[in-house]
Amino acid sequence: MDLTFLGTGGSVPTTKRNTVSMALRPGPEVLLFDCGEGTQRQLMASTVSFMRISRIFISHHHGDHFLGLPGLVQSMNFYGRTGPLDIYGPQGTGELVSSILRLGVFDLKYTVNGHDLAPGDRVVGDGYAVEAFRAEHPLPALGYVFQEDDRPGRFDPQRALALGVREGPDFSRLVRGESVVADGRTVEPGMVMGPPRRGFRMVYSGDTAPCEELRRAAAGADVLVHEATVASDLEAKAREFGHSTARDAALLAREAGVGTLYLVHISGRYDDAAPLLEEAAGIFPNTVVPNDLDSFILRPDP
Ligand SMILES: [Zn+2]
Ligand SMILES: [Zn+2]
Repeated sequence: MDLTFLGTGGSVPTTKRNTVSMALRPGPEVLLFDCGEGTQRQLMASTVSFMRISRIFISHHHGDHFLGLPGLVQSMNFYGRTGPLDIYGPQGTGELVSSILRLGVFDLKYTVNGHDLAPGDRVVGDGYAVEAFRAEHPLPALGYVFQEDDRPGRFDPQRALALGVREGPDFSRLVRGESVVADGRTVEPGMVMGPPRRGFRMVYSGDTAPCEELRRAAAGADVLVHEATVASDLEAKAREFGHSTARDAALLAREAGVGTLYLVHISGRYDDAAPLLEEAAGIFPNTVVPNDLDSFILRPDP
């Protein structure tokens, strides 16, 4: 499972940072979170195949989070996409997607579905669910929790051998959840498998001022991708526009006990993001300020 930051800048693109978008690959499919202008070109420069994007989650309707959709939708059409594409976002996203499909002249040959999500709504996928929560921004805005399903526990070969199971096909049967017979006795998978392993949890803040909903969603998350538009000397300005500082993000990460904090939506005023990293890492050491196209393995594939 990996996460690729396609755009890490806030509000407007700069030559260093495109506007926000990131691609999560929990398996063969790609989930996109936000889709700033130019995201398709960032995708082409990355190892993520844009034809594999199955679902796009938009945090809110400010242009820096969705203006990449029209181009991406039309390019998928150009390259012969046939499978449906689902685009989710806050209230009004269905209408937003309809207007994108009316832009310009093109003959759409696949289905694009727009969905309005309310806080608490869940989208259930193959092996995961994505849940929306309310973010604190001047317009309807959502953050998202990606929650992987719990995985089966680890197989304990020593325990199996002790129960008389022979190494070989019977081991595979037990791992698949089938019982086997050894020395005339039935051995159930539960006797040789450890406890289920908690699924991976990634939380994306979208644009938001610090808020209780985000704090709750982030509790115990493996990864928190949090906006950090500015440093704390500009906190008043951040609040005025419903944004967070690097300090806000780090405080929340520490309180929520997350694994790793990634800061995105960096204002174009920072040619060098070192002050943001320094500020956050002083509070929450496991902080990363990714650059565009940086990719992180969240967990080795099983
Ligand atoms: Zn924004
Ligand atoms: Zn915004």
